[in-house]
Amino acid sequence: MIIDTHCHLYEPVFANMQETLQTALAHDVWGVVAVGCDVDTNERTLALATANSKTVWACLGFHPDRVHLSDDDLDQVEQQVVEHHARIIGLGEVGLPWYCLQSSTDPAATMERGRKRLDRLLALAGRYDLAVALHAPHGAAVGALEALKRHGIERAVFHWHKAPPDVTRDIVEAGYFVSVGPEVVYRERDRELATSVPLDSLLVESDAPWKYSGEFEGLDSGPWFAARVAEELAKIKQLPVADVMFRLSTNACRLFDLVWA
Ligand SMILES: [Zn+2]
Repeated sequence: MIIDTHCHLYEPVFANMQETLQTALAHDVWGVVAVGCDVDTNERTLALATANSKTVWACLGFHPDRVHLSDDDLDQVEQQVVEHHARIIGLGEVGLPWYCLQSSTDPAATMERGRKRLDRLLALAGRYDLAVALHAPHGAAVGALEALKRHGIERAVFHWHKAPPDVTRDIVEAGYFVSVGPEVVYRERDRELATSVPLDSLLVESDAPWKYSGEFEGLDSGPWFAARVAEELAKIKQLPVADVMFRLSTNACRLFDLVWA
């Protein structure tokens, strides 16, 4: 049994939530951490967690790569966190911009704005003792790590993690988690990452409904993919699947302060 630690359950493709959660459970995925990206998706994520309180836990987020989000949107997300902090397990996804820098006319200014926004969000995480699910891929990871340390954040995960090996090492040494998804089944870079990071610092996620290649080509993306990722980690770590699933679930509970169901 395993927890999917990062899923966009608010997406219309999961409109039949009962069926989504049943399919997940049939694949040994007994819980889902649902993330939001802006005011609207946070609202929907909160409603889902309330309606499915034994299996879905909510994080509220402000996605750093969504360039259309304004400071006014951030004000509103902060209000949501202040109002609902007792009902959520973390902030996510939050982080630093990376993919949007490519199309930015002033990447340095975009990054600077992203840093200031992350500072505001991490201050909130600190105030309410919330876990942090970070979107900080590649060159953004090092800045996010520095920000976590500066704010004294103790519980955080670098979701769908990709970064230079020395940055990954620093993240693990600082006591933070890194999360891997379905790409670990078919992509060498992700397999090397999973090999290098100790099992006690790893989490699994689907990031559904993101579509994947390899054996996932053409399949409906959902929380159930997290079980396949855990199975692949068991192969990489050369340990029994049940043991690896237990340890990964324990990691998720440790990060998000969840009570084992
Ligand atoms: Zn995501």
